[in-house]
Amino acid sequence: MNVDVKATAKEHAQLQESLWKISQSPKSTVLPDASSLARARASLPRSLDSKGIGYDSIRRHILEDIVPAFNYSSISPSYFGFVTGGVTPAALFADGIVSAYDQNVQVHLPDHSIATDVEFTALGLLVDLLKLDREWQNGTFTTGATGSNILGLACGREYVVRTALARKGVTSTRSVGESGLFESMLAAGLTGIQVLSTMPHSSLVKAGGILGIGRANFIDVSRDSDPLRIDLNLLESKLSNSEKASIVAVSSGEVNTGRFATGGLAEMQTLRDLCDKYGAWLHVDGAFGIFGRILPETPEFEVIREGCEGIELADSIAGDCHKLLNVPYDCGFFFTRKQGVAQDVFQNANAVYLTGGQTQSVPSPLNIGLENSRRFRALPVYTSLLAYGSAGYQSMLQEQIRLARKITGWLFDHPRYNALPESNDKQALLDKTFIVALVSAKDDELNRQLAAKMNETSKVFVSGTAWQGRPACRIAISNWRVQADREFAIVKEVLDSVTQGV
Ligand SMILES: *Cc1c(COP(=O)(O)O)cnc(C)c1O
Repeated sequence: MNVDVKATAKEHAQLQESLWKISQSPKSTVLPDASSLARARASLPRSLDSKGIGYDSIRRHILEDIVPAFNYSSISPSYFGFVTGGVTPAALFADGIVSAYDQNVQVHLPDHSIATDVEFTALGLLVDLLKLDREWQNGTFTTGATGSNILGLACGREYVVRTALARKGVTSTRSVGESGLFESMLAAGLTGIQVLSTMPHSSLVKAGGILGIGRANFIDVSRDSDPLRIDLNLLESKLSNSEKASIVAVSSGEVNTGRFATGGLAEMQTLRDLCDKYGAWLHVDGAFGIFGRILPETPEFEVIREGCEGIELADSIAGDCHKLLNVPYDCGFFFTRKQGVAQDVFQNANAVYLTGGQTQSVPSPLNIGLENSRRFRALPVYTSLLAYGSAGYQSMLQEQIRLARKITGWLFDHPRYNALPESNDKQALLDKTFIVALVSAKDDELNRQLAAKMNETSKVFVSGTAWQGRPACRIAISNWRVQADREFAIVKEVLDSVTQGV
């Protein structure tokens, strides 16, 4: 092959240097301009030539044509779309190592690589950060919370059908993973599996579609007074339906508002007791919300801490690392206390060359997740956690919450905007504000265009959404670079400027 190894090594060193510079210089705009996009689009080849253009040319193409047409979602602290997080310097460093060494983390082979030990340790460090017990050091790194929600519902499906079988006294049927959903359901006399939840994330519903549970079998168990909080009486009445097996899914951090479905340990304990009584599985989707557990025990964050209290009572937890942990895409985590259930679902049917040594101190990742071959995505997590510690992550998150609260407080008093969800009590609204400030304009015309007008400035980027039948904008704050005062000034300026002439 026509590759000059010496030259490329030097190029790589230069490239690392320039990547570092790129990531260290936040831009004053967050979106690429139209001409950069057009230029990049025009530069895309229509087909693959048999002769490669070579390293120098492709490098120029990438850096000069393609890169200018990226957005600065992770590089700029004033990109507030979705919940994207950024990449900490330590995580960026580690991610380069991951690609360079390209370890395939699937089977624990302690004499061949330290990778599985590092991954398992990283899970433990994450458990520590989230103030969970080390019994939770059972799980895996996934491609994100979508993947983790699939794992959680798959484990739930396994457990609830088997519990129904056991309660019916059927002992002949094997696991759902072994016998399949249909045979197991028939043997258990079940007509379906239902997921009882409030404002589940779209990815959770997608997981239900993938797993044969069905998107239509998500049942809302919210209170009349609040679409996110759980009506415990309604929940119990649904759980008591003996034709259905049930998974209870708790939204620990809802994407529009950043708020929590539960409000403290006692409520989670009630959910736990109900699940035990009816043989249901308790899953928590804590993609970003679970990070509320790292906040200091001060009155400032009390309401947030209550929202993620008692997560340790769940059977499974889904979370994201590429959001608030600020490691690169794609990285999420899945924890379960019921390791046996996960093995029944995900065991990689006896390929002999894929089994590790006799004494397995570290479980092989391929038996508790979707993939066989896997990226070493645990390394940036490991590196960033050790570099900054729980105190570092705590202060990043505090700064993000303070920005969300500054914006929310300012909107509350603003003549032309509403701080959402609407409230008469400013302090209560602020106390509930986590990393999202949700805003609508009072004027319908302005409100319809609000997200587009804000994004046109390219000083910020926000996601449009809908709140109680009207358009709204989510200002979601998740980047480690955020400095509350600096970004607050930008948001104020943008929101005031877009009211001009409307
Ligand atoms: C982002 C998010 C997801 C999906 O996570 P991905 O990392 O995008 O797969 C699931 N649940 C919640 C609550 C989220 O915020």
